[in-house]
Amino acid sequence: MIKPDNFKDFLALAEKENKKLYEICQKYEADSLEIAQEEIRDRVKIVLDAMKDAIKKGLNSKEKSSSGLSGDDCAKLIERYKKGKSLFSKTCQKVLTYSLATIEQNARMGKIAACPTAGSCGIVPSVIVAMAEAMDFDEEIQINALITAGFIGEVVSEKLALAGAVAGCQSECGVAAAMAAAALAEMCGATNEQILNAAALTLKNILGLVCDPVAGLVEVPCVKRNAFLSVYAVTGAELALAGIQSVIPIDEIVEAMKQVGDMISPKLKESSEAGLAVTPTGLKITYELSQKWQNP
Ligand code: SF4
Repeated sequence: MIKPDNFKDFLALAEKENKKLYEICQKYEADSLEIAQEEIRDRVKIVLDAMKDAIKKGLNSKEKSSSGLSGDDCAKLIERYKKGKSLFSKTCQKVLTYSLATIEQNARMGKIAACPTAGSCGIVPSVIVAMAEAMDFDEEIQINALITAGFIGEVVSEKLALAGAVAGCQSECGVAAAMAAAALAEMCGATNEQILNAAALTLKNILGLVCDPVAGLVEVPCVKRNAFLSVYAVTGAELALAGIQSVIPIDEIVEAMKQVGDMISPKLKESSEAGLAVTPTGLKITYELSQKWQNP
């Protein structure tokens, strides 16, 4: 059985067997777990349904998180779009709102599908679901896309932990964006090579993204970062579908990402000791929340 620790081998196997990457990945998962491939798809469908449910609930809520730092940004976007105002196409409007809807659900402690993490949970669902609605892709195509996204996350995670505390936000929102870009490319009929280019182009442009959450909460900057990186993932897919290639192969980008992650100061790895967390406003929020929660 092939080991999922690099993209090159998976691509070579897929090309040799004339299969899509998601088919190779699906078989690998089924063989590893000793279950039928259909069961893998059933499990992925459960995740997809959970993503759609989080989007639906998030779109219909203005409830603030318990910190009060987030919860009503999605509603503000929807309000703007209802007035017919937008810089974006209808499709990208959906990507943005679905992303905020999901990550705000996370901030409210609602149920989400961590993909790859809770802090980056808005990116993959918003891109897959919004684009599937816009382009009328059926559920099977969406499942193929989600398996493709999982494949990207799994191979990257063999090299570095997908956690802001270990490698900074490049390994959470950055990897989520690469997963979403690959998923979208798959849905749009990209070749295997284009799919990996979508992930590579996306990944290499977020190297060094730090994790500096205000008050240690997954809200500032995380909520809005999900919105930004969802649209950014669409760019990765768009470039790859045009035949634009990453000069640096994806396996080398992952190695570089690990190297950069190791060089990021521990102060910028979820410890809230630097960056946005220690700006005057970040510190003020941290102080006020500690007072509020100590004296409810
Ligand atoms: S900034 Fe840190 S906590 Fe927030 S999403 Fe990124 S990695 Fe997660």
